[in-house]
Amino acid sequence: MAGNDSLIYNSLNHTILEYRDSAMIAGVVRNLEDSGTGFLAPVDLLSSDKIIRALISDIKCSFSGDIVSCREENKPLITRPKPIIKNYPPPKDFPSFSADDYLRNLCFFVNQDKHQLCSEYRYAAQQFSCLSYNPLEYSELPLEKIFNSCSFLSGSSGLVLDFSGSDLSRYSQADSLISGIRKLMLKVNFHLPLPCHDPSILSRLLKLGNSRISLYITFPGGFSALQEIRQQPGYIKKQKKIDLNFIIRSLKEYKEVSEQLKEPGDEKVFLLPYYDGNNRDFFRDNVYLSGEDILNLKPNQQQIFSRSLINEHLYGRMFIKTNGDAFANLNHEALGNLDENSISELVKKELNSGKSWNLTRMQVKPCMDCLYRIFCPPISNYELVTGEYNFCDVL
Ligand code: SF4
Repeated sequence: MAGNDSLIYNSLNHTILEYRDSAMIAGVVRNLEDSGTGFLAPVDLLSSDKIIRALISDIKCSFSGDIVSCREENKPLITRPKPIIKNYPPPKDFPSFSADDYLRNLCFFVNQDKHQLCSEYRYAAQQFSCLSYNPLEYSELPLEKIFNSCSFLSGSSGLVLDFSGSDLSRYSQADSLISGIRKLMLKVNFHLPLPCHDPSILSRLLKLGNSRISLYITFPGGFSALQEIRQQPGYIKKQKKIDLNFIIRSLKEYKEVSEQLKEPGDEKVFLLPYYDGNNRDFFRDNVYLSGEDILNLKPNQQQIFSRSLINEHLYGRMFIKTNGDAFANLNHEALGNLDENSISELVKKELNSGKSWNLTRMQVKPCMDCLYRIFCPPISNYELVTGEYNFCDVL
């Protein structure tokens, strides 16, 4: 509902019924959303207006509901249209609280740099987990902070440890980091910018049994570095463990990537538009969604439920910077610091008072007044970076 506009969505057969500017239909839909009325809208068929009759016909024909007699012996079956989740967020003293029930990705930025490549992509960490820029000087996250904070998570099957930074090969404790990771029974993903790293580290990381590698190919120089490492026998053997993320800022760069991709390998390939502060037109033409795109997304019931409560993109992620500051999202303020807080405390804090994991379109303007707010994909990092929440042509 938005004002007198209403949308009824059948998540089983993906039928969308949309009604604009009808107070009469909005009144019926409001009743259907209200637990106080038992999620039912009483109608008198004999005296119903033709608009209501048409609505009933649409609902019946799309298998989205039905009419039943109100007689006592005919009490209708009520399907609750909204989820209730027990113990969410968990109370502060929840006895069986365990951080790994909520965490999906724990990302450590092992180093941050101020060199040329990082400064060209200085907002990359805020948009995707890569290329961490530090305007002051080169800095590193001490190894013991990494292992002290995550050793209790060892063996958590749903959790991925991410290691990122400006250039992992420059990390002074890279050898100890790699051998320590071997002992952690966790899935690990390394985020490596190209061309900014020593190619030899890649072959060592690929040998880790539990690892995946995400390469971020930047302009200029990323392609030639990629061509070089793609010749390595170790790389050829392990291509299926590699994601190629091409970071593009313009149509020209997109065309260059398309040209380069003519010889596909077994890697997974992603194109990541990068917002650099000056390419809003590129985003408007290539990233923004139209109303038609949004209606064609046809989310399933689980997505509809989760989008009304949490942000599926941002949920379960925690980021640690080189100074130990911990963030549920790098576009929001720090939750705390590893020197003072355990990972469990940080997860609890985000669940109970954080801004990121539960950030839905119901909370931001103009989406909160839009009929498509639950249809739309969750708020993205791009929107957080720009501070604008409608990458669309709807409102
Ligand atoms: S205004 Fe917000 S909710 Fe509405 S279509 Fe645009 S992005 Fe989606």
